[in-house]
Amino acid sequence: MIKRPLVKPAKLTLLEFLDKRMTLPAENKYYFLNLKKGYEGEVMFNTLTEKLSCDCHILNGLRFKFNNTIFQIDSMISTGQTLFMNEVKNMTGDYYYKDNHFYSINGEERKDPLVQMERASSQLRQLIHSLGFQVKVQPNVVHVNPEFTLYQAPQNAPIIFPTQLHRYVNNLNTISTKLNRNHDLLTERLISLHVEEDPYAQLPTYTYKGMRTGMTCGICDSFEITLHGKNGICRDCGHVETVEAIVLRNVWELKMLFPELKITTNLVFDWCGGAVSRKRISRILGRHCKMFGSGPWAYYVLED
Ligand SMILES: [Zn+2]
Repeated sequence: MIKRPLVKPAKLTLLEFLDKRMTLPAENKYYFLNLKKGYEGEVMFNTLTEKLSCDCHILNGLRFKFNNTIFQIDSMISTGQTLFMNEVKNMTGDYYYKDNHFYSINGEERKDPLVQMERASSQLRQLIHSLGFQVKVQPNVVHVNPEFTLYQAPQNAPIIFPTQLHRYVNNLNTISTKLNRNHDLLTERLISLHVEEDPYAQLPTYTYKGMRTGMTCGICDSFEITLHGKNGICRDCGHVETVEAIVLRNVWELKMLFPELKITTNLVFDWCGGAVSRKRISRILGRHCKMFGSGPWAYYVLED
């Protein structure tokens, strides 16, 4: 049973917005692409684990602060026997181990996923122990991408390769031990200890003026939208969406990128690239937001 669903990190959503509306500095672009790839890997792994039929609790993306260290666990599967901790990797290309170090095929040393996993599992064990629970933790590095190859992997290392993924999940399904009240308590405690990451912390500096304005497609992020009566049609992918939905989605984007700005008809008119009339914008905002003030000073607060 999924106790904590996989959610897209707000930081990734913000970076996607920024990436389409400005040129990200190289280091931020690299970070963004890595984050995106990592998340896609977690989505891939999640499609397998969400179908688990054994008695288990699935906990995705929990982040803890313990012993003055922040650590994140991509996926935990708590069963009656063992708590499986999965460090999910969506790596592509060829890698090898030599003298206990991890290298890409061109000989560059890389961050060793096994070391990362060891660190996180040690923290997790200590955390669980400090909460007063006795649970066996089994950590694994799980490689989900079929384009990943690893040479000279240390034998018996807790690595699940793409070719072993289905077997891994099938084996979990054979666990017949049931969860008890203690497992429920541990799950509740772990979820309650989650520390949300500040999504704005590692973003590049950006300003409203530096953004490309205009409405974008909800599917392909294209700015090429033609309005046709009630609908907007994407000229790149053909996606059709109501103008109302497009405006609201873009207002939500504006709100996330610039939480300090007051949402006014004029601001949204500009943000949408002047494609929708002020009158129509204020009607749409009026239907979905709380309005404060009046006349040219009116501003809107999006209702959740
Ligand atoms: Zn599109």
